[in-house]
Amino acid sequence: MEQSQFQSQDQEKKRRRVLSKPLRLRCSVKNYNWGNLGSKSHVARLFSRNSGSHIDPDESYAELWIGTHGSGPSFVDDPFGGLSSLKEWISKNPDVLGDQVLKKWGADLPFLFKVLSIKKALSIQAHPDKELARALHKSQPSLYKDDNHKPELALALTEFEALCGFISLKDLRTVLCTVPEIIELIGGADAEQWLPANEMDRNNELEAVLESIFSQILLSSKDRISQILSKLKWRLNLEKKKRELTDKEKLVLRLESQYPADAGVMAALFLNYVKLNRGEALCIGANEPHAYIYGECIECMATSDNVVRAGLTSKQRDIQTLLSMLKRRKGFPEILKGLSLNQYTTRYLPPFEEFEVDRCILPDAASVVFPSVPGPSLLLFISGNGTIGATLSEEHMVEEGDVLFMPAYVEFTITSESKELHLYRAGINSKFFQA
Ligand SMILES: [Zn+2]
Repeated sequence: MEQSQFQSQDQEKKRRRVLSKPLRLRCSVKNYNWGNLGSKSHVARLFSRNSGSHIDPDESYAELWIGTHGSGPSFVDDPFGGLSSLKEWISKNPDVLGDQVLKKWGADLPFLFKVLSIKKALSIQAHPDKELARALHKSQPSLYKDDNHKPELALALTEFEALCGFISLKDLRTVLCTVPEIIELIGGADAEQWLPANEMDRNNELEAVLESIFSQILLSSKDRISQILSKLKWRLNLEKKKRELTDKEKLVLRLESQYPADAGVMAALFLNYVKLNRGEALCIGANEPHAYIYGECIECMATSDNVVRAGLTSKQRDIQTLLSMLKRRKGFPEILKGLSLNQYTTRYLPPFEEFEVDRCILPDAASVVFPSVPGPSLLLFISGNGTIGATLSEEHMVEEGDVLFMPAYVEFTITSESKELHLYRAGINSKFFQA
């Protein structure tokens, strides 16, 4: 055998060894104004440890992005030369994705992983399905940068509040009968005029009513909304002295203080108000109206940043598109509590093939094995410290703020060396490989 062949075999062995090791990532941060300030933000603490940068106490730290999206790329210290983006590195080493993922989604990560730290409500929004995403990207590429859909999953790290999906028809009746300012805004003598006489067979009609009211609110002038909101505020402040306000009424006052004269405050009355406990999750499918309101969460989604906004925002709104895409499902959304994989790990499986999320909390000295899977994983360490060991690789220390990329087909073991090692894994939905 020739000398050069030996060399290239050695190179290939080295390459294979490197490609079966955990790879450390440096992640991007987003300072949107709704984020928690300075070190109050978990995102700030994670980002500071991940990047070695200092936390600015006056800066909002809203989102930590882990993945390959161009608006917030993660970087790797490439063992074969210099710092490169995770996207470039994957495109040079596509084997790390596994052949099934490569065949289905090409040489890129199909999911994006985030941490959110929310002080003030995010906009009321919905994400287009694949077909609409392609059309919007084609017609308005500067506003809709991706041609992909963006189903998402929010998993609470703290108590977490959100608005999600239209309320049920029963709740619609309650809102119309108890919030006279709505009738004043949309016109008509009373709530009854808006509601069909016989509720039993009138679901379709009520649905049309809900959508018509929602669109009237979002399309009202700012002056008109401001006028109606001050009446609503005045009435609620008066009633507050006589009775305990409902959760929804308290929310309306809070949203109004964050977004004065914003139609989204009225629109919030027609969406379900969801409160998650730590460890509970919410899935948001295509075309479903939603807004995150408060708290910290892990978020996973298909790689895309397409958002159609309609209220509670100073960013560009696209109300017509939002109204045209709203899904018809009504009623309270399902809250996912996850499936127990072992004593320490819970899996959250959304009905989308791009991703799943595992939550793992390890007490001191406990170990857990993550078996080899046919797709890539991202690991995020939220608190505590410990070690990670993988096949063909020595053990590495891990701690809060560390983010690792794990190639496909690598089994790894994580051991806690602190009171509580708390981590998340995002990977391709295991149902995709079973199909
Ligand atoms: Zn969203």
